[in-house]
Amino acid sequence: MSFSELGLNPALLAALADSGYTVPTPVQAQAIPAAIAGRDLITCAQTGSGKTAAFMLPALHRLSLQERPATAAPRASRQGGRTPPRGREQERWQPARPRMLVLTPTRELALQVTAASEKYARRMHQVRAVAILGGMPYPKQLELLARNPEILVATPGRLIDHMASGRIDFSQLQMLVLDEADRMLDMGFIDDIERIVAATPASRQTMLFSATLDGTVGAMAQRITHDALRIEVDAPSARHGNIEQRMHFVDDLAHKNRLLDHLLRDASIDQALVFTATRRDADSVSDRLNIAGLNAAALHGDMHQGARNRTLAAMRRGQVRILVATDVAARGLDVPTITHVFNYDLPKAAEDYVHRIGRTGRAGRSGLAISLVHHAEQFNLRRIERFTRQSIPVEIVAGHEPTRRPQAAKPRPQGRPGGPAADRRNATHTDQRPDKAAANWRAGLPRSAHRDPTQGKQAGNARHRSSAGSR
Ligand code: AMP
Repeated sequence: MSFSELGLNPALLAALADSGYTVPTPVQAQAIPAAIAGRDLITCAQTGSGKTAAFMLPALHRLSLQERPATAAPRASRQGGRTPPRGREQERWQPARPRMLVLTPTRELALQVTAASEKYARRMHQVRAVAILGGMPYPKQLELLARNPEILVATPGRLIDHMASGRIDFSQLQMLVLDEADRMLDMGFIDDIERIVAATPASRQTMLFSATLDGTVGAMAQRITHDALRIEVDAPSARHGNIEQRMHFVDDLAHKNRLLDHLLRDASIDQALVFTATRRDADSVSDRLNIAGLNAAALHGDMHQGARNRTLAAMRRGQVRILVATDVAARGLDVPTITHVFNYDLPKAAEDYVHRIGRTGRAGRSGLAISLVHHAEQFNLRRIERFTRQSIPVEIVAGHEPTRRPQAAKPRPQGRPGGPAADRRNATHTDQRPDKAAANWRAGLPRSAHRDPTQGKQAGNARHRSSAGSR
């Protein structure tokens, strides 16, 4: 199938050709014709599936069919694009009246959505998109709103602030998109979202995108849409088929740091993203890597927006090879040259693992995701494997072997041949350990785990490797 068969207008088709996109992704093939027809969408799709274009292309198509409403004339000339004046002058200040609103969980994703809309709309006239974000200076935001953009991309909290001060009027709103809705709910935005939705016309078209449609997010999707087309691409088991996953067991922090340094020296890495659990760790790991002569930078929520943008720009230009980031900062990050993702710490939520590893293998490329796992994190690991319905093969690097073996998992009652439990039993058993190390290992485990770790099958899913990989 081609984009022209989906009914998009020539200006959009030309912009797609400029971007080198020839074939719609599955989510685009399903979403675009329905959204052009004005249908609401409830879409279960991951980042990397092409979901941004799946809502932005039909939205731009629909905007291109319309005249700009007379009530929404630009006021930038009247105000000179400056901060709105106070007092009597303020009476002449009119709110922005966007026709499309995209809500995203993070600033980075909002900026990416805005950039995508500019890319696709470059051959269209008179379509302006702006991002309204926390962390951006207030006068700058007012200046952007004064341009009366057709498309507003925003994080919920900051949008609420502007709605409360009367800077935004949703009476002309036709399309509402909730991007990564599950994530917005995880981040506690549910009340803000409800307030925003309540402020928009009931006649709007609503397009909701989410990595999962379970529980609260599924209920909200039903509540805010009308006769929506439900689209599900990528069952969890099929996620990230182009991304190879591996894990290494580590004994302690020093072992983890040594192993990370070693793995990051792999020549096959173009650019890598290293995830840490905390902002402080992002800074300290980045500092340590720089001292070790590896070109690294940190990205986290304690940094000012300007610094975050500069770091991301340096990453995109290839001036930074290793980005050390927290989950929120790296959410939605789309840098196609990231070949490797490292989990310096495993995420607590299994969904975050999927989002993290999806930062590599972008735009149809292959990628490698490597997790460094302390034996105490095995509970998290199993949760991740259950969620993705994939087991993560264990690797050992010669010279960096863990001295502790992973905890032997209970055999599965139904004798399933593969699966995470079998992999855990098979892990790291290609080398026999000295008795002393085994005794130490047992001594460090809770009573319930005092089971002979060698009792499982020895088929050996673990592979000895002498380097980080041969990709
Ligand atoms: P998304 O899921 O929206 O984050 O998109 C993932 C990546 O795929 C982005 O780098 C897009 O620019 C790219 N992309 C989106 N649609 C297509 C397509 N039809 N063909 C090739 N690449 C695409």
